[in-house]
Amino acid sequence: MSKMTVDTAVQSLKGVGAKRAASLAAIGIATIGDLLEYFPYRYEDRSQCQQIADFSDGMLVSFTARLVYVTASRARRGLTITKMSVQDDSGEAVLSFFNQPYLKKSFQAGMELFIYGKVKKRGNQVELISPDIQASEDSSSEEQALAAIQPVYRLSGNLTQRWLRSLMKQALAGMAVHTEVLPEALCQQQQLMTRQQALADIHFPSDMLALQAARRRLVFEELFLLQCGLAYIRWQNRQHGRGMKHRPDGRLLRQLMAALPFTLTSAQQQAWQEIKADMEDKLPMQRLLQGDVGSGKTVLAALALAKTVESGCQGALMVPTEILAEQHFQTLQAQYAGLPLRAALLTGRLPAAERRQVAAELAAGHIDIVIGTHALIQDSVVFKDLGLVVTDEQHRFGVRQRAKLQGKGTAPDVLAMTATPIPRTMALTVYGDLDVSTIRQLPPGRKPIKTYVRNHERRALVYQFVREQLQQGRQAYVVCPLVEDSDKINAQSAVSLYEDITGTYLHGIPCGLVHGKMNNQEKDDMMTAFYRNELKLLIATTVIEVGVNVPNAVVMVVENADRFGLSQLHQLRGRIGRGEHQSYCILLSDNDSAESQERLSIMAATQDGFALAEQDLLLRGPGKLFGETQHGLPDLKVADILQDTEVLLQARQAARRYMKQPDFFRYIETVLAQHNRADFKKILQS
Ligand code: ADP
Ligand code: MG
Repeated sequence: MSKMTVDTAVQSLKGVGAKRAASLAAIGIATIGDLLEYFPYRYEDRSQCQQIADFSDGMLVSFTARLVYVTASRARRGLTITKMSVQDDSGEAVLSFFNQPYLKKSFQAGMELFIYGKVKKRGNQVELISPDIQASEDSSSEEQALAAIQPVYRLSGNLTQRWLRSLMKQALAGMAVHTEVLPEALCQQQQLMTRQQALADIHFPSDMLALQAARRRLVFEELFLLQCGLAYIRWQNRQHGRGMKHRPDGRLLRQLMAALPFTLTSAQQQAWQEIKADMEDKLPMQRLLQGDVGSGKTVLAALALAKTVESGCQGALMVPTEILAEQHFQTLQAQYAGLPLRAALLTGRLPAAERRQVAAELAAGHIDIVIGTHALIQDSVVFKDLGLVVTDEQHRFGVRQRAKLQGKGTAPDVLAMTATPIPRTMALTVYGDLDVSTIRQLPPGRKPIKTYVRNHERRALVYQFVREQLQQGRQAYVVCPLVEDSDKINAQSAVSLYEDITGTYLHGIPCGLVHGKMNNQEKDDMMTAFYRNELKLLIATTVIEVGVNVPNAVVMVVENADRFGLSQLHQLRGRIGRGEHQSYCILLSDNDSAESQERLSIMAATQDGFALAEQDLLLRGPGKLFGETQHGLPDLKVADILQDTEVLLQARQAARRYMKQPDFFRYIETVLAQHNRADFKKILQS
């Protein structure tokens, strides 16, 4: 027993047979290390127990009570309802459970229960729906009586809280050596307790202060290791040969700067300084530029591309759609007018002969800057000397596509742009391998978009308003209801919405339709017709999310707006409000639940994409915002990036400092590789 380490199998603990081992395995516990890192999801503080008589509606309570009787009854469609009547000195309450008939077997009248849950109070009736319950421990146990704060774990199979607690104690006592992963000096400087102490205290804290200190230590460790891992990836990225060291700005850049039709906002200037410094450094730039829709990222791409040309290299700008490529091409052509710069467009839409021509000129170095779609990453596209790669709407590309374009040069600088703003703390973990520049300011003189929430009863009036706007020469979008995970149903609903609207409210007006089941060519043709003002109204699914610029489009109607996330609505709304005319966004929704009304009114009240993203994160959690697979980073066990911002910043700073020390670097390489968490090892392989 005394030779136990984190790698010892749990079966070597007393009382763990095949069946319990299987239950433990089901919650990811195979070794002692896994067990000790299986943290409680909450605690019961028995010194803080409440009395039934003091309960009020909606209160979260923990209390002990005696079980008076249990009944199980069958309701409609095979649903069983188990009801328990419980009592303490002050009053009685009913506990209701659905479809858990086995409860009747495990709990008998007369038992003392420990109960945790949310109170529903109607008159004098106190009810708790599906609370956590357990038979209260034998109170004769001295140890139990002393420890007021008890850990509560998520269970599986035949595990019980009581058994898991005693197993935890056995493991804590049996560990011969606890390996300390953090450097001693760092622990001292950050005033962190030892790992051993922290593990003991996170499971069995003597009081709330001890618990807080233990948690802080473990959160710090988790975030520190993650940040070291991310620094490691950065280092790996920079290993692939030395990067391109761009020259300081010369005449070309000065001319371009002077010819801009506006002055850069201070946020743009700041981001440009950061980009410039990276480009002039000999290490390859790995920078993410994030800025709200319409914040003016394109001009920074134009500057950076010109800068690479001034240093004798070529630049590439990759975007997700043909129409966006064409728009960017026109914008850049206008900005480069009169300057000795040759830009070209390369998309799948070009005739094959022209594409070959562009490819040949790129290879020969006659074209300085190429703007294109995925067509850029085809094997036939070769550069003479690629110095800078820019991707726009980065969230639409995989890491691999960016890497493929990068691979067409020798360690070119990389600038990835995105309009999906994410809170700073999120960026530090999700985009941890990139440096981040943020433009959090819109160019001056923008008219805020007027946003309204309406229910479908007023639909006729809303479309009447749309019609008036169209008659005044403006254009509009209608966004179809979102059916998650089904392109097919979305397409169907788009088609029927199209038929509905063009057959009634907007009869006789040239309208277009785009949805995800159309091929790229069809979509692009439709968007182009809208762009050219041949179509007055575009009915679309979320495919229009990505950056087309039609300043004459000033109205957007979103049907069943409650089905969209805030960030997504914001992204959609970013399609309007781009010109001189006042823009209007109308969110149609019949969902009158308090939550959905609140979300939509937040949407109506704020124009700031960052604030909305933060709200989204709070309301829906990080998973929804990113699609879990997108970042491929380990899930966090203790840390909560929304709550633990301070610790995250400290850990990040420390990681960056330590990773500069060669000794520590070699040490952490082995720690990350041997860490008993497989997902940390993944970092090293990416
Ligand atoms: P996004 O960041 O969404 O890509 P764009 O680069 O398309 O935004 O810029 C949106 C609009 O704002 C463009 O018409 C652009 O010319 C204009 N713009 C950009 N920067 C400024 C500025 N500093 N002052 C005034 N207008 C600007
Ligand atoms: Mg853009």
